[in-house]
Amino acid sequence: MTRDEIFSALGLSDANSGVYAGGWIDGNGGDLASINPTTATEIATVAKGNTDDYDLVVASSEDVFKEWRMVPAPQRGEYVRQIGNALRDNKEALGALVALEMGKIAAEGEGEVQEMIDIADFAVGLSRQLYGLTIASERPRHRMMEQWHPLGPIGVITAFNFPVAVWSWNAFIAAVCGDTTIWKPSSQVPLSAIAVQHICHQVMAGTGFEGAFNLIVGSGREVGDTMINDRRIPLISATGSCNMGEKVGTATAKRLARSLLELGGNNAITVLEDADLDLTTRGIAFGAVGTAGQRCTSTRRVIVQSSISGDLTKRLADAYAQVTIGDPLDPSTLMGPLINQQAVDTMMAAVGIAKDQGGEVLYGGGVVEGKDGFFVQPTIIKISKDAPIVQEETFAPILYVIDVEDVFEAIEVNNGVVQGLSSAIFTNSMKAAELFLSHIGSDCGIANVNIGTSGAEIGGAFGGEKDTGGGREAGSDSWKAYMRRQTVTINWGDELPLAQGIEFG
Ligand code: NAD
Repeated sequence: MTRDEIFSALGLSDANSGVYAGGWIDGNGGDLASINPTTATEIATVAKGNTDDYDLVVASSEDVFKEWRMVPAPQRGEYVRQIGNALRDNKEALGALVALEMGKIAAEGEGEVQEMIDIADFAVGLSRQLYGLTIASERPRHRMMEQWHPLGPIGVITAFNFPVAVWSWNAFIAAVCGDTTIWKPSSQVPLSAIAVQHICHQVMAGTGFEGAFNLIVGSGREVGDTMINDRRIPLISATGSCNMGEKVGTATAKRLARSLLELGGNNAITVLEDADLDLTTRGIAFGAVGTAGQRCTSTRRVIVQSSISGDLTKRLADAYAQVTIGDPLDPSTLMGPLINQQAVDTMMAAVGIAKDQGGEVLYGGGVVEGKDGFFVQPTIIKISKDAPIVQEETFAPILYVIDVEDVFEAIEVNNGVVQGLSSAIFTNSMKAAELFLSHIGSDCGIANVNIGTSGAEIGGAFGGEKDTGGGREAGSDSWKAYMRRQTVTINWGDELPLAQGIEFG
């Protein structure tokens, strides 16, 4: 699809408002240009919100929350079902917009929209399954139970690399839980957020619940910082770098509010000598090269038994040579650009540091010449496990190959970084796989066997440990983060027995 076709399908124009407070309002925070990373040219402009606009958004969210929380959960699910259907109708256009603005290939852009549809379906089912427990009381003629109540307006801060899906993991679950949401997307990808807001508006307009889903495009330092320190927002769900997460964690802790943090990863695939190397090569290549290495779950390290290291790196280099780099909207492209020039510079600096620390570049290592956009070569670097650079998440397609002797050393290296998001092992040994999954195995939030580190399904709880922040989103029982738990005891007898058998008076 062309830019104009995408724009007309999604209701975008050359100049767009980035603020929705129960309806579109003009943003007063200045103009932001959305840049196409493939050509380094402007796609359109967005009027950002300032802190006054932010207050209007919060007011809308608070007002609607008062009514929304009393709508029966299955009816809230019905609105989410309709938004899911509107996403189905717009899947191609929204996927193409994500490709245009963020630079991931169109197939991955559409995959992201499919993830939104999947989580909408999940949330619809969940809207009839917000179960509490009943608990045996120690007192006669007493009943105990747990019930779950909505929290209020939730702040949702998202990163550039998943411009639409991460919002839906939060917003759809929060919506069926009875919360309203305020979305502050990354300033790198505002058009994708605005297009999603238009789709929500199509469904919510005229219902009186327009403000169940609100949006404010604005700078992290101004609007983001105001939001994380705002006592009216009981939960901040933030996706982004570990640095940003530290700020969110500190600000919310200071006001004793909740945070749900989904931060950086430094994900490794362990490869043992009994692994199926065809499968392994494909798993690593998708994990390291997909989205040009700009997924939180991108494979950054391969930890390989030294006996097969040469064979594996040769296979990887052969696979990398087949990667077509170019326009993400061209169906033959496998790898698009990085998000901006700063990302290119950061990658080149990391390659230089890795070389200084003894790394040997086995493939790539440079920029792609002759293109206007932010294109780099997918890169493989053989390096020692002790090189400090392997501790860092460089948000680019650099793959460090680290040799180890056995599965025990592999697990030590896997866990020997500050982040703890995703991990994987390729092996045909049941014992090694089980060891990797055991209490003394991988310390990450995600641990896979014979599957790469990226490409999670929405049915599971998604998130990671240590500096990755400890949050869990999407499936399983992640919904509990968006509600408050209330323990209720009911006395239906004529006496007033006290707990622990205490006699009083
Ligand atoms: P980033 O940290 O630069 O920005 C993320 C968001 O935080 C943006 O919306 C930004 O405006 C906002 N922000 C920045 N400073 C803020 C502040 N002081 N207060 C409030 N908000 C603020 O991250 P990025 O470059 O957009 O994304 C890449 C990073 O995100 C990587 O580290 C990646 O691993 C991580 N990520 C993690 C997950 C996950 O689920 N664990 C998913 C996607 C991305």
